[in-house]
Amino acid sequence: MKDRKLRVNDKVMVMTGKDKGKIGTVKKILSKSDQIVVENVNMVKKHTKGNPYSGQSGEIQDKEAPVSYSNVSLLCEACASPTRIGYKYTEDNKKYRYCKKCKEILS
Ligand SMILES: [Zn+2]
Repeated sequence: MKDRKLRVNDKVMVMTGKDKGKIGTVKKILSKSDQIVVENVNMVKKHTKGNPYSGQSGEIQDKEAPVSYSNVSLLCEACASPTRIGYKYTEDNKKYRYCKKCKEILS
């Protein structure tokens, strides 16, 4: 399994596609398909079917569709720009993430 550097609740920027430049929070990581779901990114209309028996009417909802993992970049809050993530180890061998641009430690 490849190392997935992004985590849920990370802020990311879309780097390509129709939502290029959009910033959102990671809601879900779909590791099997190499995709993530980002809040308010790649919105699609989703039709829900009505059920005439229970009197429910169908409706259209906006919903986030997954985007490819490689299409987004982590947004570093310290330097406010999309960045690559690096890993470092503390003395007691704990792994932490840092911003390769400003070297700030990411939570
Ligand atoms: Zn940074």
